[in-house]
Amino acid sequence: MQVNKSLPTTNDAKLALIGFRYDDNSSFMKGAAEAPQHIRAALRSEAWNLMTESGIDLGTENTFFDGGDIEPVSGTEIFTLIESSILTLLNDGLAPISLGGDHSITYPIIKAFAKNYRDLSILHFDAHPDLYDDFQGNRYSHASPFARIMEQKLAKRLVQVGIRTINDHQRKQAERFGVEIIEMQHWRDDLTLVFDSPLYISFDLDALDPAFAPGVSHREPGGLSTRQVIDLIRRLKANVVGADIVEFNPRMDPLHITGTVCAKLLKEIAAKIISS
Ligand code: MN
Ligand code: MN
Repeated sequence: MQVNKSLPTTNDAKLALIGFRYDDNSSFMKGAAEAPQHIRAALRSEAWNLMTESGIDLGTENTFFDGGDIEPVSGTEIFTLIESSILTLLNDGLAPISLGGDHSITYPIIKAFAKNYRDLSILHFDAHPDLYDDFQGNRYSHASPFARIMEQKLAKRLVQVGIRTINDHQRKQAERFGVEIIEMQHWRDDLTLVFDSPLYISFDLDALDPAFAPGVSHREPGGLSTRQVIDLIRRLKANVVGADIVEFNPRMDPLHITGTVCAKLLKEIAAKIISS
């Protein structure tokens, strides 16, 4: 385990932050590897406090155990490293929130979660279903993690929201794996999702409309507002056990808007985990 701080001596830290500075599986544009430090800086900015909307103060000491960033290693070893890092945090009784990185990291993360949680459910926010059997010859592409997760039966249920780019191949994949897709064109503001098994949230920033989160590699207009996402998360009826925030590309975020959005989502997801 490559964490760069020792575990807290008290047991009141429930959440763990861990960054994965990795974007080798991005198909179009690099930059997501630079996201973790920007998200941390936005989270700790003196421009705001660490109160969540539900009234939880994340600024109290030991709310987060920060596992630091995992530096990229070459080839497929990175997936082994990601899986073992997450397993270590889970075995310490922590709920890991991973800061990406491109979306390919979710596959090894879920491998670790599946070892700890039977019948895991996943709520996946994205403009894209990420269900390609392979993308441009890469089975570990950031366009393929949920194909790997579902074919290995690592989750019993996958619900996708924000989707607005689905093609025939991915529709077939969704049918094959029983993925529940709530396409953006069918969005309703009162959508309330109920999960009866431990829930993992995977948040690809391009689920949001680029007006709210321009700092992504694949801008896809017609997406969710930050408000709609927060309200959906707050309405969730689920035991949330972990999350990732991926595909933020700081190179596409000259006004530093998207890093702040990541930090806001991180706060609200953390509050949901704490109150789960
Ligand atoms: Mn996406
Ligand atoms: Mn994605």
